Amino acid sequence: MQTMNTPYGSPLFTIFPSFKIHQCPEQFWALGPFRPWFTFATTSTRMTYPYYFGSNTDDLEMVRASAREFAETHIKPHVMEWDESQHFPAHLFKKMGEMGFTGVLVPEQYGGAGLNYQAYITIIEEIAQVCGSIGLSTAAHNSLCTGHIMYFASEVQKQKYLTKLASGEWIGAWGLTEPNTGSDALRMKCVAVKDGDYYVINGTKCWITHGISGHVAVVLVRTGELLDSRGISAFIIEKGTPGFTSGKKENKLGMRASETAELIFDNCRIHKDQLIGKEGEGFIQAMKVLDGGRISIAALSLGIAKGAYAASLKYAKERQQFGKPISSYQAIAFKLADMATKIEASELLTRQAGYLKDAGKPMTTESAMAKYFASETAVEVSTDAVQVHGGYGYTKDFPVEKHYRDSKLCTIGEGTSEIQKLVISRNILRD
Ligand SMILES: Cc1cc2nc3c(=O)[nH]c(=O)nc-3n(C[C@H](O)[C@H](O)[C@H](O)COP(=O)(O)OP(=O)(O)OC[C@H]3O[C@@H](n4cnc5c(N)ncnc54)[C@H](O)[C@@H]3O)c2cc1C
Repeated sequence: MQTMNTPYGSPLFTIFPSFKIHQCPEQFWALGPFRPWFTFATTSTRMTYPYYFGSNTDDLEMVRASAREFAETHIKPHVMEWDESQHFPAHLFKKMGEMGFTGVLVPEQYGGAGLNYQAYITIIEEIAQVCGSIGLSTAAHNSLCTGHIMYFASEVQKQKYLTKLASGEWIGAWGLTEPNTGSDALRMKCVAVKDGDYYVINGTKCWITHGISGHVAVVLVRTGELLDSRGISAFIIEKGTPGFTSGKKENKLGMRASETAELIFDNCRIHKDQLIGKEGEGFIQAMKVLDGGRISIAALSLGIAKGAYAASLKYAKERQQFGKPISSYQAIAFKLADMATKIEASELLTRQAGYLKDAGKPMTTESAMAKYFASETAVEVSTDAVQVHGGYGYTKDFPVEKHYRDSKLCTIGEGTSEIQKLVISRNILRD
């Protein structure tokens, strides 16, 4: 049995048993179709950083260990079953709540874990190494719905909603995208018209994570003129509100265990107390929420890339062709070198953006850079990972097949790579 060493040479498996590398490839076929998910231990690449941008390394390693153990125990055994059936395991949220994973950034006074972005990145990354879908759902719940309420809602709204969201009792959704307006959100058609103390909402949101299972949604709707950034407002809308229903559930390429569905508003009457902040502040709030959300998609990408890389490193050392391990061929070794380098760069960009966020400093450019680079890296690394595995990588018996499918979402959700480049270029040209 091999062990994986830290950069400093001490075998981590004595502390965290998940660092063990288990069976050799010949044994896979005796273990049933889903067995390789168990045999590929969740791994780190060489990622025990001596620095975490100001955070205590020991504390973060404790967070990492608990997220890893949770993912191995409660997620890994079900990954392919949930993926194949497109089952969103809503019950998992209560368990994640007990661990603090549903209110990672929420202050303790509202029942959250009160942790910082370095811890949050670590949790998302660890979960995503095992299952991108659960990583995406955890990110959407924490950064989007919960984050929007945490940063911009009134004290009354925070007391009412944050406690339920942080505990995992409620699942959160966040609705910005519409069928005809994705990147171009300022042209949204979903409209709220004031009627006394109420707003009447009509329209459709699409691609919404937890659009069916979510107990509450923060929804961005038009209250002013088209293309006016002050013409959009954010509302908190509970499931079961008359006029608010879920629509089509998407049948997706990847991230299949993360539920994605439409939200439909048909004369939905919402009391003005459900408005977040003031009328017209919604778009500016949403852009700030996305600044933080993009760090979580970078972390999601990082986890997927690390999972694909670790599986490839192991496989390349074990798989023999022409009498030698395939890792001895430079074509394969260079792929591994590219993967490791891009992952390292992704982690540094992601943690830098998290550091700026924790410090309350501007980080729109840095979070866009992290999201852009890490998500493209996740796609490149998981594509190469399939190649390293040859035909086996093209089957569902090996985890890289799923990493490959899941990774693509990272270059699309919370702003495509093209939109990240738009944000970055605008900011660097203005400076
Ligand atoms: C699994 C999943 C989960 C999601 N979850 C949520 C959620 O919870 N809440 C939510 O609100 N949304 C969610 N989304 C929606 C997601 O944010 C949008 O899909 C994304 O913003 C892109 O919008 P679009 O799909 O309409 O693509 P479009 O905006 O139509 O873009 C199509 C293509 O054109 C490019 N493009 C567009 N404009 C420009 C430009 N100006 N310059 C250069 N290129 C451009 C894009 O980069 C892209 O390549 C989710 C999507 C997916 C797939």
